[in-house]
Amino acid sequence: MKRDLGALASIEHDLLVVGGGIYGVAAAWDAAQRGLRTALVEALDFGGGTSWNSLKTIHGGLRHLQRADFRRHRESVRERRALLRIAPEIVRPLAFLVPTYGHGLRGREAFALGLLANDLLGWDRNRGLSLEQRLPSGRMLSPRQVSKRAPQLPAAGLTGAALWHDAQVESGERLTLGFLRAAGEAGARVANRARVTGLLREGRRIVGAVVRDDETGQELEVHARLVLNAAGPDADRIGTLAGLVRPPTPLLSAMNLVLEGPWPLRERLAVGAASGGRFLFLVPWRDRLLVGTEYAPAPERPGAEAAEAFRSEAARAFPWGELESRPIRLVHRGRVPGRGGASGLVTAGRLCDHESEDGVPGLVTLQGVKYTTARGMAERAIDLAFRRLRRPGPPCRTAETLLPWARPLVGSLEERAGAAVREEMARTLADAVLRRLDLGTAGPPAESEVETVVRVLAGELGWDPARQRAEREGLAAAFHLA
Ligand SMILES: Cc1cc2nc3c(=O)[nH]c(=O)nc-3n(C[C@H](O)[C@H](O)[C@H](O)COP(=O)(O)OP(=O)(O)OC[C@H]3O[C@@H](n4cnc5c(N)ncnc54)[C@H](O)[C@@H]3O)c2cc1C
Repeated sequence: MKRDLGALASIEHDLLVVGGGIYGVAAAWDAAQRGLRTALVEALDFGGGTSWNSLKTIHGGLRHLQRADFRRHRESVRERRALLRIAPEIVRPLAFLVPTYGHGLRGREAFALGLLANDLLGWDRNRGLSLEQRLPSGRMLSPRQVSKRAPQLPAAGLTGAALWHDAQVESGERLTLGFLRAAGEAGARVANRARVTGLLREGRRIVGAVVRDDETGQELEVHARLVLNAAGPDADRIGTLAGLVRPPTPLLSAMNLVLEGPWPLRERLAVGAASGGRFLFLVPWRDRLLVGTEYAPAPERPGAEAAEAFRSEAARAFPWGELESRPIRLVHRGRVPGRGGASGLVTAGRLCDHESEDGVPGLVTLQGVKYTTARGMAERAIDLAFRRLRRPGPPCRTAETLLPWARPLVGSLEERAGAAVREEMARTLADAVLRRLDLGTAGPPAESEVETVVRVLAGELGWDPARQRAEREGLAAAFHLA
Protein backbone atom coordinates (compact mmCIF):
# COMPACT_ATOMS: atom_id res chain seq x y z
CA MET A 1 0.00 0.00 0.00
CA LYS A 2 1.45 3.33 -1.07
CA ARG A 3 0.28 6.64 0.34
CA ASP A 4 -0.44 8.66 -2.80
CA LEU A 5 -2.98 11.41 -2.35
CA GLY A 6 -2.36 12.67 -5.87
CA ALA A 7 -3.57 9.32 -7.22
CA LEU A 8 -6.59 9.48 -4.91
CA ALA A 9 -7.58 12.82 -6.38
CA SER A 10 -6.89 11.86 -10.00
CA ILE A 11 -9.99 9.76 -10.75
CA GLU A 12 -13.65 9.60 -9.87
CA HIS A 13 -14.24 6.73 -7.47
CA ASP A 14 -17.44 4.76 -7.12
CA LEU A 15 -17.09 4.88 -3.35
CA LEU A 16 -15.15 7.05 -0.92
CA VAL A 17 -15.00 5.63 2.60
CA VAL A 18 -14.40 8.21 5.34
CA GLY A 19 -12.71 6.61 8.36
CA GLY A 20 -10.26 3.72 8.66
CA GLY A 21 -11.57 2.01 11.80
CA ILE A 22 -12.76 -1.58 11.60
CA TYR A 23 -16.05 -0.51 9.97
CA GLY A 24 -14.38 1.57 7.28
CA VAL A 25 -11.72 -1.00 6.37
CA ALA A 26 -14.26 -3.84 6.27
CA ALA A 27 -16.42 -1.77 3.91
CA ALA A 28 -13.44 -0.85 1.70
CA TRP A 29 -12.45 -4.52 1.42
CA ASP A 30 -15.96 -5.63 0.50
CA ALA A 31 -16.39 -2.81 -2.02
CA ALA A 32 -13.03 -3.40 -3.70
CA GLN A 33 -13.52 -7.17 -3.77
CA ARG A 34 -16.88 -6.70 -5.48
CA GLY A 35 -15.32 -4.49 -8.13
CA LEU A 36 -16.12 -0.94 -7.01
CA ARG A 37 -13.46 1.71 -7.59
CA THR A 38 -12.83 2.42 -3.92
CA ALA A 39 -10.97 5.05 -1.91
CA LEU A 40 -10.55 5.30 1.86
CA VAL A 41 -9.23 8.25 3.84
CA GLU A 42 -8.36 8.17 7.53
CA ALA A 43 -7.75 11.36 9.54
CA LEU A 44 -5.19 9.82 11.92
CA ASP A 45 -4.07 6.23 11.51
CA PHE A 46 -5.91 3.08 10.46
CA GLY A 47 -7.48 1.42 13.48
CA GLY A 48 -6.16 4.15 15.80
CA GLY A 49 -9.60 5.34 17.00
CA THR A 50 -12.23 3.40 18.94
CA SER A 51 -11.13 0.18 17.27
CA TRP A 52 -7.77 0.23 19.07
CA ASN A 53 -9.54 0.07 22.42
CA SER A 54 -11.73 -3.00 22.16
CA LEU A 55 -11.71 -5.60 24.95
CA LYS A 56 -10.87 -8.04 22.13
CA THR A 57 -13.97 -10.14 22.72
CA ILE A 58 -15.69 -11.45 19.62
CA HIS A 59 -19.22 -11.84 20.94
CA GLY A 60 -21.65 -14.55 19.92
CA GLY A 61 -24.56 -12.50 21.21
CA LEU A 62 -25.55 -14.34 24.40
CA ARG A 63 -26.47 -11.03 26.02
CA HIS A 64 -28.92 -10.22 23.20
CA LEU A 65 -30.99 -13.16 24.40
CA GLN A 66 -31.66 -11.34 27.68
CA ARG A 67 -33.72 -8.89 25.65
CA ALA A 68 -35.09 -11.63 23.38
CA ASP A 69 -33.34 -9.88 20.47
CA PHE A 70 -32.99 -12.96 18.28
CA ARG A 71 -32.00 -11.01 15.17
CA ARG A 72 -28.94 -9.48 16.83
CA HIS A 73 -28.09 -12.82 18.38
CA ARG A 74 -28.08 -14.48 14.96
CA GLU A 75 -26.02 -11.61 13.53
CA SER A 76 -23.41 -12.04 16.28
CA VAL A 77 -23.21 -15.82 15.79
CA ARG A 78 -22.72 -15.31 12.06
CA GLU A 79 -20.04 -12.64 12.49
CA ARG A 80 -18.13 -14.54 15.18
CA ARG A 81 -18.05 -17.52 12.82
CA ALA A 82 -16.90 -15.34 9.91
CA LEU A 83 -13.99 -13.91 11.91
CA LEU A 84 -12.96 -17.34 13.21
CA ARG A 85 -12.89 -18.43 9.59
CA ILE A 86 -11.18 -15.56 7.81
CA ALA A 87 -8.57 -14.71 10.48
CA PRO A 88 -7.78 -18.05 12.15
CA GLU A 89 -4.27 -17.04 13.23
CA ILE A 90 -5.50 -14.23 15.45
CA VAL A 91 -9.16 -14.97 16.22
CA ARG A 92 -9.37 -17.96 18.53
CA PRO A 93 -12.03 -19.58 20.72
CA LEU A 94 -12.09 -18.46 24.35
CA ALA A 95 -14.04 -20.01 27.24
CA PHE A 96 -16.22 -17.73 29.39
CA LEU A 97 -17.35 -18.53 32.92
CA VAL A 98 -19.94 -16.70 35.01
CA PRO A 99 -20.37 -18.04 38.55
CA THR A 100 -23.94 -17.88 39.87
CA TYR A 101 -24.73 -17.07 43.49
CA GLY A 102 -28.49 -17.34 43.52
CA HIS A 103 -31.55 -18.79 41.91
CA GLY A 104 -34.26 -17.50 39.63
CA LEU A 105 -34.01 -14.61 37.18
CA ARG A 106 -30.34 -13.74 37.73
CA GLY A 107 -29.23 -17.12 38.99
CA ARG A 108 -28.45 -20.61 37.87
CA GLU A 109 -31.80 -21.39 36.22
CA ALA A 110 -31.84 -18.24 34.08
CA PHE A 111 -28.30 -18.93 32.85
CA ALA A 112 -29.14 -22.57 32.10
CA LEU A 113 -32.05 -21.41 29.94
CA GLY A 114 -29.87 -18.78 28.27
CA LEU A 115 -27.17 -21.31 27.38
CA LEU A 116 -29.73 -23.71 25.96
CA ALA A 117 -31.27 -20.98 23.79
CA ASN A 118 -27.78 -19.81 22.79
CA ASP A 119 -26.91 -23.27 21.48
CA LEU A 120 -30.25 -23.87 19.79
CA LEU A 121 -30.26 -20.51 18.02
CA GLY A 122 -26.56 -20.82 17.28
CA TRP A 123 -26.93 -24.32 15.82
CA ASP A 124 -24.76 -23.39 12.83
CA ARG A 125 -22.06 -21.61 14.82
CA ASN A 126 -19.33 -24.00 13.61
CA ARG A 127 -20.35 -24.34 9.96
CA GLY A 128 -17.28 -24.26 7.73
CA LEU A 129 -14.84 -23.96 10.65
CA SER A 130 -11.75 -26.10 11.08
CA LEU A 131 -11.72 -28.44 14.08
CA GLU A 132 -9.59 -26.19 16.29
CA GLN A 133 -11.78 -23.14 15.62
CA ARG A 134 -15.03 -24.87 16.63
CA LEU A 135 -16.91 -23.83 19.73
CA PRO A 136 -18.32 -26.50 22.05
CA SER A 137 -21.85 -26.24 23.49
CA GLY A 138 -22.37 -24.23 26.64
CA ARG A 139 -23.17 -25.96 29.93
CA MET A 140 -23.85 -25.34 33.58
CA LEU A 141 -21.28 -26.43 36.14
CA SER A 142 -22.16 -27.57 39.64
CA PRO A 143 -20.64 -25.72 42.62
CA ARG A 144 -18.23 -28.63 43.05
CA GLN A 145 -17.08 -28.48 39.45
CA VAL A 146 -16.56 -24.71 39.77
CA SER A 147 -14.48 -25.09 42.93
CA LYS A 148 -12.37 -27.72 41.21
CA ARG A 149 -11.70 -25.65 38.08
CA ALA A 150 -11.38 -22.27 39.77
CA PRO A 151 -10.83 -22.80 43.50
CA GLN A 152 -10.12 -19.08 44.04
CA LEU A 153 -13.74 -18.07 43.32
CA PRO A 154 -15.73 -17.36 46.51
CA ALA A 155 -17.61 -20.55 47.44
CA ALA A 156 -20.16 -19.11 49.89
CA GLY A 157 -23.60 -19.19 48.29
CA LEU A 158 -22.23 -20.52 44.98
CA THR A 159 -24.99 -22.28 43.03
CA GLY A 160 -22.88 -23.14 39.98
CA ALA A 161 -21.54 -21.41 36.88
CA ALA A 162 -22.40 -20.89 33.25
CA LEU A 163 -19.62 -21.99 30.90
CA TRP A 164 -19.68 -21.16 27.18
CA HIS A 165 -17.33 -20.23 24.35
CA ASP A 166 -16.97 -17.02 22.39
CA ALA A 167 -13.81 -15.84 20.64
CA GLN A 168 -10.95 -13.47 21.28
CA VAL A 169 -9.03 -11.44 18.75
CA GLU A 170 -5.41 -11.73 19.76
CA SER A 171 -4.53 -8.54 17.89
CA GLY A 172 -7.31 -6.19 16.81
CA GLU A 173 -4.68 -4.05 15.08
CA ARG A 174 -3.59 -6.88 12.81
CA LEU A 175 -7.22 -7.73 12.02
CA THR A 176 -7.86 -4.12 10.98
CA LEU A 177 -4.67 -4.22 8.87
CA GLY A 178 -5.79 -7.57 7.45
CA PHE A 179 -8.97 -6.00 6.05
CA LEU A 180 -7.12 -2.91 4.89
CA ARG A 181 -4.36 -4.74 3.05
CA ALA A 182 -6.90 -7.01 1.41
CA ALA A 183 -8.73 -3.88 0.22
CA GLY A 184 -5.46 -2.41 -1.07
CA GLU A 185 -4.56 -5.59 -2.92
CA ALA A 186 -8.03 -5.62 -4.50
CA GLY A 187 -7.36 -2.12 -5.87
CA ALA A 188 -8.64 0.28 -3.18
CA ARG A 189 -6.64 3.51 -2.83
CA VAL A 190 -6.16 4.33 0.82
CA ALA A 191 -4.41 7.04 2.83
CA ASN A 192 -3.91 7.82 6.49
CA ARG A 193 -3.35 11.32 7.88
CA ALA A 194 -5.93 12.43 5.31
CA ARG A 195 -8.85 14.22 6.94
CA VAL A 196 -12.17 15.05 5.36
CA THR A 197 -12.77 18.76 6.00
CA GLY A 198 -15.65 19.34 3.64
CA LEU A 199 -17.94 17.58 1.21
CA LEU A 200 -18.26 18.29 -2.51
CA ARG A 201 -21.79 18.91 -3.77
CA GLU A 202 -23.67 19.20 -7.00
CA GLY A 203 -27.01 20.62 -5.93
CA ARG A 204 -28.08 18.49 -2.98
CA ARG A 205 -26.03 15.51 -4.13
CA ILE A 206 -22.74 14.69 -2.40
CA VAL A 207 -20.10 13.94 -5.05
CA GLY A 208 -16.94 13.56 -2.99
CA ALA A 209 -14.94 15.24 -0.27
CA VAL A 210 -12.33 17.88 0.41
CA VAL A 211 -9.42 16.04 2.01
CA ARG A 212 -6.59 17.71 3.91
CA ASP A 213 -3.23 15.98 3.69
CA ASP A 214 -2.06 16.42 7.27
CA GLU A 215 1.57 15.89 6.23
CA THR A 216 1.72 18.77 3.74
CA GLY A 217 -1.29 20.86 4.83
CA GLN A 218 -2.57 20.73 1.23
CA GLU A 219 -6.25 20.30 0.48
CA LEU A 220 -7.43 18.27 -2.46
CA GLU A 221 -10.72 17.12 -3.90
CA VAL A 222 -11.55 13.42 -4.00
CA HIS A 223 -14.49 12.73 -6.29
CA ALA A 224 -16.80 9.79 -5.72
CA ARG A 225 -20.30 8.80 -6.77
CA LEU A 226 -21.05 7.78 -3.20
CA VAL A 227 -19.50 8.72 0.14
CA LEU A 228 -19.67 6.24 3.02
CA ASN A 229 -19.36 7.96 6.38
CA ALA A 230 -17.63 5.46 8.68
CA ALA A 231 -16.13 8.05 11.03
CA GLY A 232 -17.20 6.17 14.17
CA PRO A 233 -17.93 8.55 17.05
CA ASP A 234 -17.27 11.51 14.70
CA ALA A 235 -19.92 10.44 12.20
CA ASP A 236 -22.16 13.37 13.21
CA ARG A 237 -19.44 15.82 12.15
CA ILE A 238 -19.44 14.41 8.64
CA GLY A 239 -23.25 14.68 8.71
CA THR A 240 -22.92 18.34 9.67
CA LEU A 241 -20.55 18.91 6.73
CA ALA A 242 -23.34 17.51 4.53
CA GLY A 243 -25.78 20.03 6.01
CA LEU A 244 -27.80 17.41 7.86
CA VAL A 245 -29.83 18.81 10.73
CA ARG A 246 -30.27 15.94 13.17
CA PRO A 247 -30.15 15.55 16.93
CA PRO A 248 -26.57 14.56 17.91
CA THR A 249 -25.85 10.88 18.56
CA PRO A 250 -25.36 10.56 22.34
CA LEU A 251 -21.99 9.04 23.19
CA LEU A 252 -20.66 7.20 26.20
CA SER A 253 -17.04 7.15 27.18
CA ALA A 254 -15.85 3.52 27.49
CA MET A 255 -12.75 2.19 29.24
CA ASN A 256 -10.81 -1.06 29.78
CA LEU A 257 -7.67 -1.58 31.81
CA VAL A 258 -4.71 -3.71 30.81
CA LEU A 259 -3.19 -5.05 34.03
CA GLU A 260 0.03 -6.85 34.80
CA GLY A 261 -0.22 -10.68 34.93
CA PRO A 262 0.14 -13.46 35.77
CA TRP A 263 -3.36 -14.80 35.19
CA PRO A 264 -4.58 -15.82 38.66
CA LEU A 265 -6.55 -18.96 37.72
CA ARG A 266 -5.25 -22.33 36.62
CA GLU A 267 -7.36 -22.21 33.47
CA ARG A 268 -7.34 -19.44 30.90
CA LEU A 269 -11.00 -18.50 30.76
CA ALA A 270 -12.70 -15.12 30.86
CA VAL A 271 -14.71 -14.64 34.04
CA GLY A 272 -17.79 -12.45 34.37
CA ALA A 273 -19.17 -10.78 37.48
CA ALA A 274 -22.11 -8.45 38.07
CA SER A 275 -21.12 -4.97 39.22
CA GLY A 276 -23.16 -1.76 39.32
CA GLY A 277 -26.04 -3.28 37.36
CA ARG A 278 -23.95 -4.66 34.49
CA PHE A 279 -21.43 -7.42 33.84
CA LEU A 280 -17.70 -6.84 33.95
CA PHE A 281 -15.31 -9.36 32.43
CA LEU A 282 -11.80 -10.23 33.53
CA VAL A 283 -10.09 -11.67 30.48
CA PRO A 284 -6.75 -13.45 30.05
CA TRP A 285 -4.80 -11.98 27.16
CA ARG A 286 -1.15 -12.86 26.57
CA ASP A 287 0.60 -12.39 29.91
CA ARG A 288 -1.86 -9.66 30.91
CA LEU A 289 -5.35 -9.30 32.36
CA LEU A 290 -7.91 -7.18 30.54
CA VAL A 291 -10.81 -5.86 32.56
CA GLY A 292 -13.80 -4.02 31.17
CA THR A 293 -15.85 -2.43 30.13
CA GLU A 294 -16.66 0.71 32.11
CA TYR A 295 -19.14 3.16 30.56
CA ALA A 296 -19.63 6.74 31.70
CA PRO A 297 -21.29 9.79 30.18
CA ALA A 298 -18.76 11.55 27.89
CA PRO A 299 -16.71 13.57 28.70
CA GLU A 300 -15.71 11.79 31.87
CA ARG A 301 -13.43 12.32 34.85
CA PRO A 302 -9.72 13.01 34.29
CA GLY A 303 -7.92 9.93 33.03
CA ALA A 304 -5.84 8.69 35.94
CA GLU A 305 -8.59 9.26 38.50
CA ALA A 306 -11.20 7.41 36.41
CA ALA A 307 -8.80 4.51 35.76
CA GLU A 308 -8.03 4.10 39.49
CA ALA A 309 -11.72 4.32 40.40
CA PHE A 310 -12.53 1.66 37.85
CA ARG A 311 -9.76 -0.58 39.08
CA SER A 312 -11.19 -0.37 42.63
CA GLU A 313 -14.62 -1.31 41.35
CA ALA A 314 -13.20 -4.22 39.36
CA ALA A 315 -11.20 -5.37 42.40
CA ARG A 316 -14.46 -5.63 44.37
CA ALA A 317 -16.11 -7.56 41.53
CA PHE A 318 -13.16 -9.99 41.27
CA PRO A 319 -11.82 -10.18 44.85
CA TRP A 320 -9.74 -13.25 43.96
CA GLY A 321 -7.86 -11.43 41.18
CA GLU A 322 -5.71 -9.16 43.40
CA LEU A 323 -6.36 -6.33 40.98
CA GLU A 324 -5.46 -3.55 43.44
CA SER A 325 -1.84 -4.65 43.52
CA ARG A 326 -1.40 -5.07 39.77
CA PRO A 327 0.16 -2.16 37.88
CA ILE A 328 -2.04 -0.66 35.17
CA ARG A 329 -0.04 -1.07 31.96
CA LEU A 330 -2.41 0.61 29.56
CA VAL A 331 -5.85 2.19 29.53
CA HIS A 332 -8.18 1.66 26.59
CA ARG A 333 -10.56 4.55 26.01
CA GLY A 334 -13.09 5.23 23.34
CA ARG A 335 -16.51 6.69 22.65
CA VAL A 336 -19.45 4.48 21.77
CA PRO A 337 -23.11 5.27 21.05
CA GLY A 338 -25.24 5.35 24.21
CA ARG A 339 -26.46 7.58 27.02
CA GLY A 340 -26.31 7.56 30.83
CA GLY A 341 -24.24 4.48 31.59
CA ALA A 342 -23.85 0.81 30.69
CA SER A 343 -27.63 0.24 30.65
CA GLY A 344 -27.97 2.98 28.04
CA LEU A 345 -25.49 1.40 25.63
CA VAL A 346 -26.89 1.26 22.10
CA THR A 347 -27.05 -2.36 21.01
CA ALA A 348 -27.77 -1.98 17.29
CA GLY A 349 -25.56 -0.45 14.62
CA ARG A 350 -26.95 2.17 12.24
CA LEU A 351 -26.93 2.12 8.46
CA CYS A 352 -28.47 5.32 7.19
CA ASP A 353 -29.23 6.10 3.56
CA HIS A 354 -29.37 9.89 3.58
CA GLU A 355 -31.02 9.99 0.17
CA SER A 356 -34.18 8.37 1.51
CA GLU A 357 -33.95 9.67 5.08
CA ASP A 358 -32.82 13.27 4.56
CA GLY A 359 -33.11 13.95 0.85
CA VAL A 360 -29.30 14.10 0.50
CA PRO A 361 -28.24 11.69 -2.29
CA GLY A 362 -24.68 10.41 -2.45
CA LEU A 363 -24.17 9.91 1.30
CA VAL A 364 -24.56 6.83 3.49
CA THR A 365 -23.62 6.58 7.20
CA LEU A 366 -22.44 3.36 8.80
CA GLN A 367 -22.06 3.56 12.57
CA GLY A 368 -21.47 0.34 14.47
CA VAL A 369 -21.60 -0.55 18.13
CA LYS A 370 -19.40 -3.69 18.17
CA TYR A 371 -16.08 -4.59 16.63
CA THR A 372 -17.55 -8.09 16.21
CA THR A 373 -20.28 -7.09 13.77
CA ALA A 374 -18.27 -4.73 11.53
CA ARG A 375 -17.89 -7.15 8.61
CA GLY A 376 -21.61 -7.94 8.41
CA MET A 377 -22.67 -4.29 8.72
CA ALA A 378 -20.13 -3.40 6.04
CA GLU A 379 -21.69 -6.03 3.76
CA ARG A 380 -25.09 -4.39 4.20
CA ALA A 381 -23.57 -0.98 3.48
CA ILE A 382 -21.99 -2.20 0.25
CA ASP A 383 -25.24 -3.91 -0.82
CA LEU A 384 -26.89 -0.51 -0.36
CA ALA A 385 -24.05 1.18 -2.27
CA PHE A 386 -24.68 -1.04 -5.29
CA ARG A 387 -28.39 -0.20 -5.16
CA ARG A 388 -27.64 3.52 -5.00
CA LEU A 389 -25.09 3.25 -7.83
CA ARG A 390 -27.78 1.39 -9.81
CA ARG A 391 -25.42 -1.48 -10.52
CA PRO A 392 -26.03 -5.15 -9.95
CA GLY A 393 -23.93 -6.16 -6.96
CA PRO A 394 -21.88 -9.37 -7.15
CA PRO A 395 -22.33 -11.50 -4.02
CA CYS A 396 -20.27 -10.54 -0.98
CA ARG A 397 -17.46 -13.01 -0.24
CA THR A 398 -15.82 -11.39 2.77
CA ALA A 399 -17.33 -13.90 5.21
CA GLU A 400 -15.31 -16.72 3.70
CA THR A 401 -12.26 -15.16 2.04
CA LEU A 402 -9.15 -15.63 4.16
CA LEU A 403 -7.38 -12.40 5.14
CA PRO A 404 -3.71 -13.27 4.53
CA TRP A 405 -2.35 -10.25 6.45
CA ALA A 406 -4.49 -10.78 9.55
CA ARG A 407 -1.47 -12.20 11.33
CA PRO A 408 1.73 -10.87 12.87
CA LEU A 409 4.39 -9.61 10.48
CA VAL A 410 7.35 -11.99 10.29
CA GLY A 411 11.12 -11.56 10.23
CA SER A 412 13.60 -9.68 12.38
CA LEU A 413 12.38 -6.48 14.06
CA GLU A 414 14.30 -4.44 11.45
CA GLU A 415 12.55 -6.30 8.63
CA ARG A 416 9.14 -5.97 10.24
CA ALA A 417 9.62 -2.26 10.91
CA GLY A 418 10.66 -1.79 7.28
CA ALA A 419 7.56 -3.64 6.10
CA ALA A 420 5.40 -1.52 8.41
CA VAL A 421 6.59 1.58 6.55
CA ARG A 422 6.82 0.25 3.00
CA GLU A 423 3.83 -2.11 2.91
CA GLU A 424 1.53 -0.80 5.63
CA MET A 425 1.94 2.98 5.51
CA ALA A 426 3.29 3.55 9.03
CA ARG A 427 4.10 7.28 9.13
CA THR A 428 4.95 7.76 12.80
CA LEU A 429 6.67 5.75 15.52
CA ALA A 430 3.31 5.17 17.22
CA ASP A 431 1.81 3.91 13.93
CA ALA A 432 4.54 1.30 13.74
CA VAL A 433 4.84 0.29 17.39
CA LEU A 434 1.17 0.39 18.41
CA ARG A 435 -0.67 -0.53 15.23
CA ARG A 436 1.66 -2.59 12.99
CA LEU A 437 4.27 -4.39 15.08
CA ASP A 438 2.15 -5.13 18.13
CA LEU A 439 4.91 -3.99 20.49
CA GLY A 440 2.96 -1.56 22.69
CA THR A 441 -0.47 -3.15 22.92
CA ALA A 442 0.23 -4.76 26.30
CA GLY A 443 1.93 -1.70 27.79
CA PRO A 444 5.14 0.26 27.17
CA PRO A 445 7.53 -1.69 24.93
CA ALA A 446 11.20 -2.35 25.73
CA GLU A 447 13.41 0.67 25.02
CA SER A 448 15.78 -1.38 22.89
CA GLU A 449 12.87 -2.36 20.61
CA VAL A 450 11.72 1.23 20.34
CA GLU A 451 15.24 2.32 19.40
CA THR A 452 15.45 -0.30 16.67
CA VAL A 453 12.15 0.87 15.22
CA VAL A 454 13.19 4.54 15.43
CA ARG A 455 16.40 3.72 13.57
CA VAL A 456 14.57 1.91 10.76
CA LEU A 457 11.85 4.56 10.44
CA ALA A 458 14.38 7.40 10.54
CA GLY A 459 16.20 5.76 7.63
CA GLU A 460 13.03 5.08 5.64
CA LEU A 461 11.33 8.41 6.27
CA GLY A 462 14.34 10.72 6.58
CA TRP A 463 13.81 11.85 10.19
CA ASP A 464 16.37 14.21 11.71
CA PRO A 465 17.29 13.93 15.43
CA ALA A 466 14.65 16.51 16.44
CA ARG A 467 11.93 14.55 14.67
CA GLN A 468 13.14 11.32 16.26
CA ARG A 469 12.86 12.94 19.70
CA ALA A 470 9.35 14.18 18.93
CA GLU A 471 8.35 10.71 17.76
CA ARG A 472 9.59 9.12 21.01
CA GLU A 473 7.56 11.65 23.00
CA GLY A 474 4.50 11.01 20.87
CA LEU A 475 4.73 7.29 21.56
CA ALA A 476 5.27 7.77 25.30
CA ALA A 477 2.05 9.83 25.49
CA ALA A 478 0.03 6.72 24.60
CA PHE A 479 1.00 5.21 27.95
CA HIS A 480 0.13 8.17 30.20
CA LEU A 481 -2.85 7.32 32.35
CA ALA A 482 -4.04 10.93 32.55
C1 LIG B 1 -13.31 0.37 25.78
C2 LIG B 1 -14.02 -0.34 24.65
C3 LIG B 1 -14.16 -1.74 24.66
C4 LIG B 1 -14.80 -2.40 23.61
N1 LIG B 1 -14.84 -3.76 23.61
C5 LIG B 1 -15.40 -4.41 22.55
C6 LIG B 1 -15.35 -5.83 22.50
O1 LIG B 1 -14.78 -6.50 23.37
N2 LIG B 1 -15.94 -6.44 21.44
C7 LIG B 1 -16.56 -5.73 20.44
O2 LIG B 1 -17.08 -6.36 19.53
N3 LIG B 1 -16.60 -4.38 20.46
C8 LIG B 1 -16.03 -3.70 21.49
N4 LIG B 1 -16.05 -2.34 21.51
C9 LIG B 1 -16.72 -1.59 20.43
C10 LIG B 1 -15.85 -1.45 19.19
O3 LIG B 1 -14.53 -1.16 19.55
C11 LIG B 1 -16.40 -0.35 18.27
O4 LIG B 1 -17.77 -0.61 17.98
C12 LIG B 1 -15.66 -0.28 16.94
O5 LIG B 1 -14.27 -0.28 17.12
C13 LIG B 1 -16.07 0.97 16.17
O6 LIG B 1 -15.33 1.00 14.99
P1 LIG B 1 -15.48 2.21 13.97
O7 LIG B 1 -14.73 1.85 12.75
O8 LIG B 1 -16.93 2.56 13.80
O9 LIG B 1 -14.88 3.48 14.74
P2 LIG B 1 -13.36 3.94 14.89
O10 LIG B 1 -12.46 2.83 15.18
O11 LIG B 1 -13.37 5.10 15.84
O12 LIG B 1 -13.01 4.47 13.43
C14 LIG B 1 -13.48 5.70 12.92
C15 LIG B 1 -12.30 6.37 12.23
O13 LIG B 1 -12.76 7.53 11.54
C16 LIG B 1 -11.70 8.46 11.54
N5 LIG B 1 -12.26 9.80 11.25
C17 LIG B 1 -13.02 10.57 12.03
N6 LIG B 1 -13.29 11.74 11.42
C18 LIG B 1 -12.66 11.70 10.21
C19 LIG B 1 -12.56 12.62 9.13
N7 LIG B 1 -13.11 13.84 9.18
N8 LIG B 1 -11.83 12.25 8.04
C20 LIG B 1 -11.24 11.02 7.98
N9 LIG B 1 -11.33 10.12 8.98
C21 LIG B 1 -12.03 10.45 10.08
C22 LIG B 1 -11.14 8.35 12.96
O14 LIG B 1 -9.82 8.86 13.04
C23 LIG B 1 -11.23 6.86 13.22
O15 LIG B 1 -10.02 6.18 12.97
C24 LIG B 1 -15.38 -1.65 22.54
C25 LIG B 1 -15.24 -0.25 22.52
C26 LIG B 1 -14.54 0.40 23.55
C27 LIG B 1 -14.35 1.87 23.47
